[in-house]
Amino acid sequence: MPQVKIQGVDIEYRVLKTRRNRYIRLTVSGKNGVRISAPWGYPERELHAMVREKGAWILDRLQYFRSLEEQQPRWRYTDGELLLVQGEWTPLRITPWEFNAGRLRLETGVLEIRLPQSRLNDPSIVHDLFLRWLRRWALQELSHRINSHADAMRLRPGRITIRAQRSKWGSCSQNGNISLNMRLMLVPPAVADYVMIHELAHLRQLNHSQRFWGIVDRYCPDRKTHQRWLREHSWLLEMD
Ligand SMILES: [Zn+2]
Repeated sequence: MPQVKIQGVDIEYRVLKTRRNRYIRLTVSGKNGVRISAPWGYPERELHAMVREKGAWILDRLQYFRSLEEQQPRWRYTDGELLLVQGEWTPLRITPWEFNAGRLRLETGVLEIRLPQSRLNDPSIVHDLFLRWLRRWALQELSHRINSHADAMRLRPGRITIRAQRSKWGSCSQNGNISLNMRLMLVPPAVADYVMIHELAHLRQLNHSQRFWGIVDRYCPDRKTHQRWLREHSWLLEMD
């Protein structure tokens, strides 16, 4: 991989050239590091210069991702771990109680889990509780919110389904049914709203044409910030 020295640090970057690329795009993410995509045949020398020029920003982003990793967002489901909930790092507190079943509550910024003493050190039960709770919450909250966006946009979606997709945040089918990922409850609310507005806009345009983005922008002027949030943080939300 090509390298560049920025403020005394060797930074590797990956170049991706395809015939389909029309623009140059530089991205930094926790998962893929520094990537630059460019049109076919674009001179390496200029890409190198561009990486160097953006050096301070790149270092800053890399540092940010390193600090995220230190917060160990690894979905281990153990006491004291920080989980991302609605975009906030939320501590998980696991305490015993006398009942046989487990319970999960989100209260004043803490995910509180009560478990019978015998299951206290069993991450799999915490995992199950968390996913069940997330699905229920998503079903309630996202259905409600997407309907109010639909009203504002004067659109009528078909069926709304909540799924546990691995890589997709949402989708819209040809007959107007929309599915939303329950992990949208983990991202900042404004980012989740962007995804819902995006899928709703597909009811008008089932493509990503300029006209489509025009509709999205009308209802979500900050969509570029939200898209970037998703690009940069999706890897943190890859949980089993
Ligand atoms: Zn789309």
